[in-house]
Amino acid sequence: MKFLCPVCRREEEIIGDRNPRCRFCGVEMIPPSNYSQVWMSPSFAIRRMRTINETYGGDRAHKYGKFKKEREAWTTAMLALALTKLTGKEWWIEIETVDNTPDTRLRRISQEPGGNIIETHEIEIVDWETNVGDIMEVIEKKCARAYPSNYILLVNARNSSKVVDFDRVIKEIKKLSSPFLEVWVFVFVKPSNFTVVRVAPAPAFVELTRPDFEKASNQTPFLRRLTRSTKSEFKDLGLLYMPIPPGE
Ligand SMILES: [Zn+2]
Repeated sequence: MKFLCPVCRREEEIIGDRNPRCRFCGVEMIPPSNYSQVWMSPSFAIRRMRTINETYGGDRAHKYGKFKKEREAWTTAMLALALTKLTGKEWWIEIETVDNTPDTRLRRISQEPGGNIIETHEIEIVDWETNVGDIMEVIEKKCARAYPSNYILLVNARNSSKVVDFDRVIKEIKKLSSPFLEVWVFVFVKPSNFTVVRVAPAPAFVELTRPDFEKASNQTPFLRRLTRSTKSEFKDLGLLYMPIPPGE
């Protein structure tokens, strides 16, 4: 099993020892976590995808099936930051590890007089790739399927050869009977600059720029709901170690 030293950040494959200490720092090393029940900050999801890009190259980072969850978390991070910019509320990303849908969830804790309430958005993600000429083809195909009415569709417009005509998408989507609560589209503009648009029901435009990403890096990286608690209580998990899936 691979462990992480919280001090020197060294990763080491250790066999047999469940509580190893770092050979250099003498501190207890952190065992690896999986995604189950973990809420991760948008900033962490973005950094994780950057690491995968740097390690495996953009092409493999985008194509490899084993990075699908990391890509979906990254895509969800863009919606989370757009929502934060619109409302000031912070959201965390939870990756679905058991069921086929939704792909991800956005979670936050709302502190109400009667106690904590968990707010959740269920997210279905689809990529608009270069082999599809019109973004509406992607949206129409998704809208033709049955989804629970609380789901949000998030379209990652990866077709960089085309400019998204948002006014047209907003107009066209009104003609569809969409099962989704909301439909969002986001496009890469340039590094640290994304446009995130709610195209249905009510249009909303958000430009994410460098200060938004910098501000997001202050958000608590990991939270987990305390399962034995009857109330909605949460634990700040501090530093977690989630090894990047091996590329080959
Ligand atoms: Zn160390």
